[in-house]
Amino acid sequence: MGFNIAIDGPAGAGKSTIAKKIAGKLGFIYVDTGAMYRAIGLYLLRAGVPYDDAQAVEDAIREIQISIAYQNGEQQVLLNGENVSAQIRTEEVGNMASKTSQYPAVRVKLLELQRQLAASADVLMDGRDIGTCILPNADLKIYLTADPRVRAKRRYLELTEKGISCNIEEIEKDIIERDLRDTTREVAPLKKAEDAVEVDTSHLTIEEVVDTITAMVQSRRG
Ligand code: C5P
Repeated sequence: MGFNIAIDGPAGAGKSTIAKKIAGKLGFIYVDTGAMYRAIGLYLLRAGVPYDDAQAVEDAIREIQISIAYQNGEQQVLLNGENVSAQIRTEEVGNMASKTSQYPAVRVKLLELQRQLAASADVLMDGRDIGTCILPNADLKIYLTADPRVRAKRRYLELTEKGISCNIEEIEKDIIERDLRDTTREVAPLKKAEDAVEVDTSHLTIEEVVDTITAMVQSRRG
């Protein structure tokens, strides 16, 4: 059993950017669980399954095989053997993932894969329910948050840098809606685990957050 770090928090708090850097510094494997929900979202969009038909979603995902591979240290998500790592990064797929991650069948499908990955090595896993459900005995749990306005601004800059035109008000509205869905769903809602350390990144640089969390890992590892 390796050392397990769980990082949870809402969309846009900086989880993946920060988790990747810490994993690189400490030689941990970074597991992005959101990418797995996105791969399921992509499958459902392609298959034309309506997000609000729980039974249709449950039936459709029986045929899905999700797996993870690493290429040059970067996580790749395979959907029935196809590498969909690029295709899952759209807002459309993110929204479908957010709407369908509430279904128990979807969550059960990914639970074992996530636990197996954590059992195999020193892992830093990010998501929404890692500290509360997937790895309740993680060695360190972090709850990463930031003000919705700050998160919207970061997302806006990220998209405009890629040449994608977007509207900051719409992004903020989307983030607030996504937070509401993730925190109020019945199964595995997004919430801070009792033993998690909360880090608000609103007024911190990426490096400051990375250094703070790295120091916590080092002190717990002794
Ligand atoms: O983190 P990311 O934005 O890629 O996640 C997409 C969606 O997947 C989230 O909005 C959330 O609903 C869902 N998710 C989840 N549990 C996780 C990771 C992601 O429900 N552990």
